[in-house]
Amino acid sequence: MERSIGIGLLGAGTVGGTLVARLIGESEAIAAKTGLTFDIRRVGVRSLDKERPFPATEGLLTTQLDEVISDPSVDLVVEVMGGLDPAGDLILAALEAGKPVISANKELIAARGPELIAAAERSGVPFLFEAAVGGGIPIIRPLSETLAGEKIDRVMGIVNGTTNFILTQMSEEGTTYLAALEEAKELGYAEPDPTADVSGADAAAKAAILGSLAFGTWIGIDDVYCEGIEGITAVDISFAAEFGYAVKLVGICERVESGINVRVHPAMIPFDHPLSGIRGATNAIFIEGPMIESLLFSGPGAGGGPTATAVLGDMIDAARETLAGAQVAPRIRFSPGEIVGFEDVVTEWYVRLVVDDKPGVLAKIASGFGDAGVSIKSVWQEGGETEAALIVVTHSAKESAQREALSSLRTIDEVIDIGSVIRVLGETR
Ligand code: NAP
Repeated sequence: MERSIGIGLLGAGTVGGTLVARLIGESEAIAAKTGLTFDIRRVGVRSLDKERPFPATEGLLTTQLDEVISDPSVDLVVEVMGGLDPAGDLILAALEAGKPVISANKELIAARGPELIAAAERSGVPFLFEAAVGGGIPIIRPLSETLAGEKIDRVMGIVNGTTNFILTQMSEEGTTYLAALEEAKELGYAEPDPTADVSGADAAAKAAILGSLAFGTWIGIDDVYCEGIEGITAVDISFAAEFGYAVKLVGICERVESGINVRVHPAMIPFDHPLSGIRGATNAIFIEGPMIESLLFSGPGAGGGPTATAVLGDMIDAARETLAGAQVAPRIRFSPGEIVGFEDVVTEWYVRLVVDDKPGVLAKIASGFGDAGVSIKSVWQEGGETEAALIVVTHSAKESAQREALSSLRTIDEVIDIGSVIRVLGETR
C-alpha cells in the first residue's frame, strides 16, 4: 500500500529546486522502491518571480515561511534554504509542532545542533541532516548509527570541494592560488564571494559535526581551530610533492592524550595516504578506529543532484518512522567530554623561510627551534645570490612550542620572510 506524505519545503534553490523536480519526475520509481509518495504542499522562497526547475502551480510557492510549517497538510519539513536566520527558528517551530525535519544546513547545525536535537527528542520526531556534510556521501548515518559501537580514534575529511579543486589545480597545473580560484569561480565550484570556503569556515562547521558524531561529545564551532588555504603557494605544493606529500585542506577530529581535538587547516599528507589522491571537487572522509581499522568514504560533496539524494534518503527514513507511529529517540546522545585546544596538540611542521645567505644562519634557526623544545627532522636549502630558500621540517612537538619557535625566528635579523607554515600529517594509526 502506498502512503502519501505532505512535504513543506523551505528553499527551492540548487538543492531544493532539484529535489522538487526529482520528487515530481521520479515519483513512480520512489514509490515502487519505498511504498511512499511525497506530495509537495508548500515551498517557501524569497522571490515568487524566479524561474524554477519545476511547475510552480498556484499557491505552491510562498514567501510566508511560517505558513510552510503551520500548514496542516504538511507532515514533514525539509529545510534547504541555508543560513542561521530564519532557518533555525523555523526548524525549531516545526519540531515543536511535532513535525519531522530534514536539513542540509551545516552552518546552522554546527551552531544550534544540541538545541534542535533536544527539541526533536522532546517531540519524539526525527531531525536528520545527512546532506549537511559531504553532500552526496553517506557519512552522518554511518557515523551516528552503523559505527555507534566503534570507539573512533580519528576522522579526517576533505569536506570542501572548492578548496580541494583549487589545491588540485595548483598542484597539477602549477597555477597560482588566485588563478585557480578564478577558475573555480568560472566552473561554478566557488561562490562569487568564496570567503567561507577558502577561509576554512565551511569545513570547520562540517568538522564540528563530524567530531561531535564520532566522539559523542558536542563540539561547538568556537572549539574548532580554523585556518584556510589563502597562504598556500604553488612553491609549497611543489616542495611538498618533492618530499612525497600532497597539500590538502583537512578537517581533523581526533582523540589526543587528554581529550578530543577538532581543527581545520592545510596539511601535507603522505602520498601513500588515501586522502592524498582525492582530486578536484571530490570530498572524502577517512575514519580510523581500533576494530574497523580504516574506512574511506568519498564522492561528490556538493551539487543539486547528489545532495538531493541525501535529503531524499532522510525523507524516506523519517517518513517510515513517522508512519510507524513511533516516538523517535535521537540517533546519538551527547555527553560532556574534554575538548583540547589546538595549542596542546602535537604536530609536525613544515616551515619555508627566506633567509640571508650568510654563514651561521642555519645555527640561529636551529637554536630558535631548539630553545622552544622543537627538534628538527630535516632541513633543505637552496641558495640564491644573496638570499636562500630554507625548508625546515620538524619532529612532533606541541603546537604551542612550534608557535613559540616561529615567534623566535621572526626576531632573527637574517630571516627575511617566513613564507609559509604547513602541518605535516604523520602516519595513520
Ligand atoms: P541556494 O541555491 O542559495 O537556495 C536557497 C533557497 O532558499 C532559495 O530558493 C531561496 O529563495 C531560499 N531562501 C534563502 N533565504 C531565504 C529567506 N530568508 N527567505 C525566504 N527564502 C529564502 O542554496 P543551496 O545551494 O540550495 O543550499 C541550500 C542548503 O543546502 C544550504 O544550507 C547549503 O549549505 C546546503 N547544501 C548545499 C549543497 C550544494 O551543493 N548546493 C550541498 C550540501 C549542502 P529564492 O530562490 O527565492 O532566492
